[in-house]
Amino acid sequence: MNVIEVQNASYEYKTYNDDGTTGTLVAVDDVSFEIKKGSFVALVGHNGSGKSTLAKMLNGLHKPKKGQVLVNGLSTAVQSNIFEIRKNVGMVFQNPDNQMVASIVEEDVAFGPENLAIPQPEIVQRVAWALEQVNMSQYAKRSPHKLSGGQKQRIAIAGALAIKPQVLVLDESTAMLDPQGRKEVLAVAKKLNADGMTVVLITHFMEEVLDADNVIVMKRGKIVAQGTPMEIFSQQSLVEDAFLRVPRTVELAQRLSQAGWSVDASCTDAKALGGQLCQLLQKN
Ligand code: ADP
Ligand code: MG
Repeated sequence: MNVIEVQNASYEYKTYNDDGTTGTLVAVDDVSFEIKKGSFVALVGHNGSGKSTLAKMLNGLHKPKKGQVLVNGLSTAVQSNIFEIRKNVGMVFQNPDNQMVASIVEEDVAFGPENLAIPQPEIVQRVAWALEQVNMSQYAKRSPHKLSGGQKQRIAIAGALAIKPQVLVLDESTAMLDPQGRKEVLAVAKKLNADGMTVVLITHFMEEVLDADNVIVMKRGKIVAQGTPMEIFSQQSLVEDAFLRVPRTVELAQRLSQAGWSVDASCTDAKALGGQLCQLLQKN
């Protein structure tokens, strides 16, 4: 079952030129795809390829200028659907510091459900549940400002979870984090997905998309490829043409295999590849 359907959707920004004239910039150009319930979708593309614009179309923050976006069959173009759509599509953005609204973690997480006028006892339950999901329960009474970047993003994810969405969209939510923070946030995303949440991960770290069910590649507002991570990363020219790069492990496995080493050429896991190499070296 599809939770989101994007059908020939386009979005354009009005641009303002120095000479006072205006123009349009087509940021998302006639894109179509589906997001299956419970799937892990990765959206990748170079800077300015339209990922964030597309993300904002998924919850109706941007309405398509052409085509349509359906969330559970409800069009984002219809204003009376927006409340329901926003409840179902939670978003977390890039900068952890811009997303904190309260001075205590649990109040911050409660912000979403409070805006939905959820009764107080249920808010308390939701906040506790959401903090548990991101492994931050012990920080409930702390000030968000004293947390690490990775912890702040996990709080932001908890805030999105507290509205009980069906889909969680992470728009470069790991981009500003150190490696440890990236690991933490990615682990939370994977765990949520394993528990049934539909996850849309937007990232420019190709290593992060190796476990995705579907990778969508954008270039200049268009979708130029879609497939499993191996379907995408086995096409080096496609990846380079989209100004991206093949993950190191994948590249190494491919090169070793081409050079005659009997390793799994479609290996995506560094540890597993290392294990295969060790075995080969011991045999020789
Ligand atoms: P990405 O997230 O892949 O980096 P964006 O969706 O942010 O890409 O941007 C797509 C294109 O739209 C870029 O050319 C960008 O400069 C332009 N753009 C983004 N936001 C605005 C805006 N508010 N006004 C005008 N142009 C914008
Ligand atoms: Mg972006």
